[in-house]
Amino acid sequence: MSDIIKLLPDHIANQIAAGEVVQRPASVVKEMVENAIDAGATKIQVIIKDAGKTLIQIIDNGCGMSGTDAVMCFERHATSKVSTADDLFALKTKGFRGEALASIAAIAHVCVKTRQAHSETGTLIEIEGSKIKTNEPTVCPVGTSFEVKNLFYNVPARRNFLKSDNVEFNHIVDEFERIVLAHPDLSFTLHHNDNEVYNLYSAVLRKRIVDVLGKSSNDKLVPIDESTEIVTVVGYVGKPEFAKKSRGEQFLFVNNRYFKDTFFNHALTKAFDGLVQPKMFPSYFLYLTVDPKKIDVNVHPTKTEIKFEEDRLIYAILLSAVRQALGKYNVAPTLDFERETSFDLPHEMKYQPVVEPTIRVNPDYNPFQTTSRSSSSGSSGNSFTKAIRAEGFGASETTPADWQNFYKIEEEEHVIEPVQLDLPSSDSLPKAFLFRGKYIFTTSKSGLLVFDAQRATERIVYDELMAQFISKPIASQQLLFPIEREFSSNEKTEWESNKTMLERLGFVGQFSDKTIEINAVPAILQEESIHECLDLILEKIAFQEIDKGEVAHVIVQAIATATGRRKSITTNEAAEHLIEQLFSCSEHSFTPKGKKIIETITLDEIATKF
Ligand code: ADP
Ligand code: MG
Repeated sequence: MSDIIKLLPDHIANQIAAGEVVQRPASVVKEMVENAIDAGATKIQVIIKDAGKTLIQIIDNGCGMSGTDAVMCFERHATSKVSTADDLFALKTKGFRGEALASIAAIAHVCVKTRQAHSETGTLIEIEGSKIKTNEPTVCPVGTSFEVKNLFYNVPARRNFLKSDNVEFNHIVDEFERIVLAHPDLSFTLHHNDNEVYNLYSAVLRKRIVDVLGKSSNDKLVPIDESTEIVTVVGYVGKPEFAKKSRGEQFLFVNNRYFKDTFFNHALTKAFDGLVQPKMFPSYFLYLTVDPKKIDVNVHPTKTEIKFEEDRLIYAILLSAVRQALGKYNVAPTLDFERETSFDLPHEMKYQPVVEPTIRVNPDYNPFQTTSRSSSSGSSGNSFTKAIRAEGFGASETTPADWQNFYKIEEEEHVIEPVQLDLPSSDSLPKAFLFRGKYIFTTSKSGLLVFDAQRATERIVYDELMAQFISKPIASQQLLFPIEREFSSNEKTEWESNKTMLERLGFVGQFSDKTIEINAVPAILQEESIHECLDLILEKIAFQEIDKGEVAHVIVQAIATATGRRKSITTNEAAEHLIEQLFSCSEHSFTPKGKKIIETITLDEIATKF
């Protein structure tokens, strides 16, 4: 029998490849605009006729091509962006496969006019179904203009498969928006059937988002700015009350490339837990920067799916960054400094002796001594704070200074009307009153505030550690005498699969058959709390279903709970300091597990008792 295998002619191979790259007119727009960006263009015009079925034209002011390159660019695997396999792992450009133009030229009539800055004449190439019809010098501006006409003219099945002009044009707008949001520094226009749809000038990110989504979006944006060694996240999330009925305003970018990721999307949805109604979708525009070596963009032909080497850590970082930002934005509404009624501690209470707490563990131990948040320097929330102020969100933030002012107002009022309260002098008033080592009383204008000291500690430790964790590994302390524990096989498996995360959080351990030797624990953890903390962690990670991205939160929560249970407050001064710290947290009303930290007893409620 004679040989039957033959190589497909190039134009057929290109047509088949085209099916992968070019699904619809929007794919052409995406590939060509990305090429223009890679060519260093600062101004890119997109002109569309009949939803791209008749014409897609992209005009750029980029570097242009030489006469030879203008022919070469239509060859399959012709690319100027990757020359060695190593380049693939350090991609800074959008293209790298060298198949977009070859594919497009196989299924459309393409005309390119291009000129490089140093050359006086440009080149005109016309190509139809992969065959060059014209190749001649031409007069044209520096840069490149591609016209793609009669898309799928030779693939009727594809052409018939196209949807209505409305639907196809919407796809084009979607692609266009993703690109313009990724490149606010570049100017873009989009015309459809001679109507101007977008005319976007180079702008800062916030302005670009507002230009794309409409003016009213300006008030909805909460800035995010988190810089860690693994990933940098900047951008905005929409305030919860502006959540949408569809996912239309959810944008993730990595290294200026739009991508879709259900795992990270889950982190963001989680960050809005309890803040948006079910079936509503929060908006976000988040820009991740990671080392190109740690992502793989090569997993999908249209390149919207990206593999991240450190996806779990990035999940945790996204979740915390957004929760912190939302927490800060939410602070103002939960505080009530404005009520008229003035009130202070009842007389008897003031003179009641301070009762010693029952548990006493190293009363001088202060895990926060080195990182005073109240000085607001060096903490990771700092860049965020600056960003908020710069963006005009300052009013919604509460700082320890506000807290002090809060007292000041109270004190001034006492000076004015000391008799009414029957108190000797404002100077001797305790600002916070510790009750049985467990509760802290202070006053507000609306009444008496009661804080649960343990829960307050939990919140403070949690916020402090989470802020540390996202920017660097948490400080760990070597144990003088390593702790040995027996582990079940289930616990061992879970510990090992979360080893990197546990180490970043300060736990270092070594397994031998059925035991683990813990050599180091988070520095914040007191010795008495270590076993309790390990129990809490193992109970969660080994016996309860938790999302893999949630591990960091579960562990930090365990550290916070264990610390909260053991740390004791013994003086009014310590109580006052604790409350100061609490008020510099992103959220001060609830513990990370959602338990109430503060209760207000209003003046009216007290009055009813007499
Ligand atoms: P890729 O972008 O993966 O390299 P393409 O088929 O999209 O592959 O483009 C092939 C090559 O054509 C590019 O590598 C680039 O050198 C050149 N090219 C394409 N579009 C332009 C443009 N607008 N300006 C300058 N050069 C371009
Ligand atoms: Mg390309």
